[in-house]
Amino acid sequence: MNRKFVRAIFPGSFDPLTNGHLDVINRGVKLFDELIVAVGRSPIKNPLFTPEERVEMIAELIADMPSVSVESFEGLTVEYAAKKKANVILRGLRSLTDVQYEFQLAMTNRAVAGIETIFVMTSEQYGFTTSTLIREVAALGGDVSNLIPKNIYNRLQQKLADSR
Ligand code: ADP
Repeated sequence: MNRKFVRAIFPGSFDPLTNGHLDVINRGVKLFDELIVAVGRSPIKNPLFTPEERVEMIAELIADMPSVSVESFEGLTVEYAAKKKANVILRGLRSLTDVQYEFQLAMTNRAVAGIETIFVMTSEQYGFTTSTLIREVAALGGDVSNLIPKNIYNRLQQKLADSR
C-alpha cells in the first residue's frame, strides 16, 4: 500500500521546553515521518530565554532523534508550515481547559490554510505542567527539576543566577 509521507511541525513558545513538550515530541516521533519543532519568535509575555537559546536547548535534547529537527520561525504558523511543506500541525493537550483554545486555533488554521492539526494527550503526570508556571516557580526558588529535562534545568539555574 502506498503510504503518504507525513511531515509535521510542532509549533510553540517552548520558553522553556518542559517534560510535557518532550512527551508530545516522543509521541509525534511514532506518528510522523518527520517532525520539526518550531520555536515561535513572536514576542511573548516576559520571555526568559531568547529564541536562539530555546532552539539550542531543544537541539541538545533531540540530538539522538534522527527524524526530529528544530528551528525558529517568525509570523504565521500556517505560512511556516506551507514553507516547510508540512502536512500536519502537532499540538499537545493537557486538560479540558486547553481544548477550547486549541479547537479555535485548529479550526482557524484549517479555514485559512486547509491544514490539519493532530492532537496528542500528554502523560497524566505532565497534565499540570506549563512553561509559565515553571518560570514563575523557578524565579521564586522552587524546585522544578522533575518537570523539565536536565539540560534545561541547568540553563534555567544559570539564567536565574545571572539575573540576580
Ligand atoms: P503556545 O504559546 O503556542 O501555547 P507552548 O510552548 O506553551 O506554546 O505550547 C506548545 C504546545 O505544547 C501546545 O499545543 C500546548 O498545548 C502543548 N503543551 C504545553 N505544555 C504541555 C504539557 N505539559 N503536556 C502536553 N502538551 C503541552
